[in-house]
Amino acid sequence: MKIFLTGGAGYIGSVTAQLLLDEGHEVVIFDNLESGHRGAVDPRAKFVEGDLRDREKIHESMRESRPDAVMHFAAYALVGPSMEDPLLYFRNNVAGGIHLAEAMCSSGVKKIIFSSTCATYGEPDEIPMTEDLPQHPTNPYGESKLMLERILSWSEERCGIEPVFLRYFNAAGATEKYGEHHDPETHLIPLVLSVALGQKQKVDVFGDDYDTPDGTCIRDYIHIVDLAQAHILAVTGNHAGAFNLGNGNGYSVKEVIDVAREVTGCDIPFDVAPRRPGDPPRLVASSEKAMHVLGWQPRYPELRTIVEHAWKWHLAHPEGYDGAGK
Ligand code: UDP
Repeated sequence: MKIFLTGGAGYIGSVTAQLLLDEGHEVVIFDNLESGHRGAVDPRAKFVEGDLRDREKIHESMRESRPDAVMHFAAYALVGPSMEDPLLYFRNNVAGGIHLAEAMCSSGVKKIIFSSTCATYGEPDEIPMTEDLPQHPTNPYGESKLMLERILSWSEERCGIEPVFLRYFNAAGATEKYGEHHDPETHLIPLVLSVALGQKQKVDVFGDDYDTPDGTCIRDYIHIVDLAQAHILAVTGNHAGAFNLGNGNGYSVKEVIDVAREVTGCDIPFDVAPRRPGDPPRLVASSEKAMHVLGWQPRYPELRTIVEHAWKWHLAHPEGYDGAGK
């Protein structure tokens, strides 16, 4: 298949492009390189530097590419900054997404695999979380993703767009080639590993007074390769609807630090800091639907393996894509 992949210079997009290309698909990457890296663009892909907020550019690129399907990763994806500047998030994630949908409509492209998030659910009433739970986001990031889910669903009526919503839990890990490099980094696992690398002195644990066994927030970490594989199953199997992607196991912030200590053999000091606004205490997926309908089977469900792979990549690329290890 020919896949038009937005955000292919980013963390999840780069790994998905790699796996698609490994399987013999053709990939066009559309990325503005604002937070992505040129070094994360697989050289086997065609690269278009462009911004989804540039309506003409996305229309032109879609027209020229004429793909079989779109995978849409490009977005702002942080809870904290979205609380500080909601409009920025809505303009990029929602307005940019509308431009993408319009470009698909006018070029007759129907299938889209959309990177959605467990943040669309807000604070869930039930754990593990199934796809039919109410969606009440607690931050503009989650709201922007939910808005685009709805916009794409309405576009199904209007111009036959066939969306699949993949609601990710916490993406982590790496392949040998591609890993996680954000600037600034805000995610727990890479931050913890940067302490082990001696690049940071300690980790701040955002709140230890949540209603969880050790008081720190619980998340469901999923290996980036397993996430990427779910996209490939969704697009090649011609599926529709929403799928949660996690391992069904929740780990607290303190447990993640403990696993990283074991994997790296380093003492990883931490301080307890105030809660981060917008953080739900506990997010754990039920991925039963993805397993039964997509036939998805995570290859690396263990947190330890996920952290080991991330550690290996960070050791080989201590400066991420900026360094000589690129
Ligand atoms: N977290 C933390 N310290 C950090 C970064 C994250 O305690 O320096 C916590 C955060 O509050 C959340 C969990 O780790 O409970 C995972 O956060 P991350 O930003 O990695 O992913 P998110 O769940 O926001 O998508």
